[in-house]
Amino acid sequence: MKKFALALLATTALAASTGAVFAQDGVTIGVSWNNFQEERWKTDEAAIRAVLEEAGATYISADAQSSASKQLTDIESLISQGADALIILAQDSDAIGPAVAAAVAEGIPVVGYDRLIENPDAFYLTFDNKEVGRMQARGVFEVQPEGNYVFIKGNSADPNADFLFEGQMEVLQEAIDSGAIVNVGEAYTDNWNPEVAQANMEQFLTANNNEVDAVVASNDGTAGGAIAALSAQGLAGSVPVSGQDGDHAALNRIALGTQTVSVWKDARELGKRAAEIALELAEGTALDAVEGATTFSDGPNGVEMNAVLLAPVPITQDNLDVVIDAGWVSKDVVCQGV
Ligand code: BGC
Repeated sequence: MKKFALALLATTALAASTGAVFAQDGVTIGVSWNNFQEERWKTDEAAIRAVLEEAGATYISADAQSSASKQLTDIESLISQGADALIILAQDSDAIGPAVAAAVAEGIPVVGYDRLIENPDAFYLTFDNKEVGRMQARGVFEVQPEGNYVFIKGNSADPNADFLFEGQMEVLQEAIDSGAIVNVGEAYTDNWNPEVAQANMEQFLTANNNEVDAVVASNDGTAGGAIAALSAQGLAGSVPVSGQDGDHAALNRIALGTQTVSVWKDARELGKRAAEIALELAEGTALDAVEGATTFSDGPNGVEMNAVLLAPVPITQDNLDVVIDAGWVSKDVVCQGV
């Protein structure tokens, strides 16, 4: 027993000293996650870790569990643990401001990950979210070009919620103006919570005597909630529904015919780019010298940012092979129960 304890102590000491050597010689990247509610975030995380591991850099992270205030202390803690650059998936784009300002003041570069953090000294890496919104609306509109539309929007503290809605409106405004489409219900979804989306959808169905012809849902989680509400009324499969992320369950629903479109954003690519950019910035590369950087000033305050925007891909029943061929999901999972 005693021998075992000693051996354990020795191993722990060795591990600790190896870690210390790494932290001094290599680069440490701190990642602040707001939560891991959606399936995709573990994929993003794995992609970030893989690049850092390959580069001999150290990954440290924190999960704010949907709390904007915990995320502020998480970031302080990542800084005090020696992060040379930060990647931040913000819970609340406004609340995060002071933490980002503090990091920047200490010379620690910040990558706003997936969600805009409107600070000219931060880098912005995301998919083109307005384009995601356009693809969601087009996917539904092509099937149902008229009638009563419901909009299940994202979390209001996430700027993506409004970017998506703006993109959706770009596609649908003309039909709304002509009266072909009527917006019979529109609500943000607290924390992108599928159960909240389901409850909102139930209310819209009740308020409209079930006369809902299309649902523009802003991600696959909320689409799942909306489809559960439709299903309870025997309407799943006859009302087109959009989503995004390429969640495995959503791709299966597309195959089954209860969801119309998911906008796929290859989180493996976003994670990889984030880690590469964080490493570049940690080594002193200027924000505007990051490979592929363009400028972005489309945020609520019009702040000009250096940014990289990746291209999303709409997935419908017609091109499910795209995600299967890309190794994102297996055919068995997509076709389960079909
Ligand atoms: C992301 C989506 C995700 C949602 C909920 C958005 O900011 O762009 O991919 O589904 O947050 O996590």
